[in-house]
Amino acid sequence: MTWLEVDEDSGFGIENLPYGVFRRDGTDARVGVAIGDRVLDLAGLAGAGLVEGRGWFASGTLNGFMAAGRAAWTANRARLRDLLTDPAQRAAVSPHLVPVTDVELLRPFEVADYVDFYASEHHATNAGRIFRPQGEPLLPNWKHLPVGYHGRAGTVYASGTPIVRPCGQRKVGPSDAAPSFGPTLRLDIEAEVGFVAGTPSTPGRPVTPRAFRDHVFGFVLVNDWSARDIQAWEGQPLGPFLGKSFATSVSPWVVPVAALEAARVTPPAQDPVPLPYLRADEPWGLDLRLEILINGGSVSRPRFERMYWTAPQQLAHATVNGASLRTGDLFASGTVSGPTKEERGCLLELTWNGTEPLELPDGAKRAFLEDGDTVTIRATAPGANGTTIDLGEVTGTIRPANC
Ligand code: MN
Repeated sequence: MTWLEVDEDSGFGIENLPYGVFRRDGTDARVGVAIGDRVLDLAGLAGAGLVEGRGWFASGTLNGFMAAGRAAWTANRARLRDLLTDPAQRAAVSPHLVPVTDVELLRPFEVADYVDFYASEHHATNAGRIFRPQGEPLLPNWKHLPVGYHGRAGTVYASGTPIVRPCGQRKVGPSDAAPSFGPTLRLDIEAEVGFVAGTPSTPGRPVTPRAFRDHVFGFVLVNDWSARDIQAWEGQPLGPFLGKSFATSVSPWVVPVAALEAARVTPPAQDPVPLPYLRADEPWGLDLRLEILINGGSVSRPRFERMYWTAPQQLAHATVNGASLRTGDLFASGTVSGPTKEERGCLLELTWNGTEPLELPDGAKRAFLEDGDTVTIRATAPGANGTTIDLGEVTGTIRPANC
């Protein structure tokens, strides 16, 4: 129990303690931890000698602390728990608690590289049916390796950053028509979960599933904004490019791997059995319950536990060729979709490529996003001791195109 008053059903209790970067009027950006409806200012705590790492926490990004490695993460988490549960520390710690409503939450880390996977069997099957109605929905490689691509790190934005509708080449009308240039007519979301690397790895040395906790700092929510018309035309044969690279949004709180240990569940059975480098000796499904809201109305509730490829398998695959990790590398899961319509993680699936418009709770209809629409993805997970872990939310509003 913490001496701080935290709502019983708050997902930001003592078992969570996610890290973020915040700014108050007139102060520099600094690292904080969410507790209840407050942010605990770690730069302030370090300045008062209550935690180690003033340099990390005053730097305005999590990268320094993430690079410090697992021993530092574990020690800091234990120290914060002590400070927040020992009543004798209350007078010393209280001055460093700020109401979350008084701060601006920034992008929590500098993104080094960005990889996006395609790990949901339900999403990959639906997308295959939509884009290749004649063929098998899953391509032959899909159950042998976690399919992915390298995305654009420089356009990963903080939650709340407005999203300008991208322009590009797209086909309007019959499929044999010449492409035209203009704003995307099929702007979409992808509800995803990402993990971020802290400890770098050695070039030429793959990172095994067993070493996941040594390298990965934590998890965030990701919205991989997508222009489906641009994507469909440009993506043959090399895959996602400008239809994805204009913007990706991440949630402000990085939930430590340790906070999600109680959410680990057995993932879906894998058939065929993956090659040895992709085998994990622990269950790494994660029981994260996502919800997608458009203009405040709930439209879908995807379950992350249904993902076919797990995070440690993704990390092992991304490094099996010897590609090394850098602090700040972001790995997103791919769209999280389930077997029912209520669990689909993007409008492409929810509206079947626009052919079955979605009725929003306010009665409006959508095939794809319109200017002014706000999309929010949020998630919770079971935490230790019967608690709930809140992953917070990632949100963004569509602005008109500039072309
Ligand atoms: Mn994606």
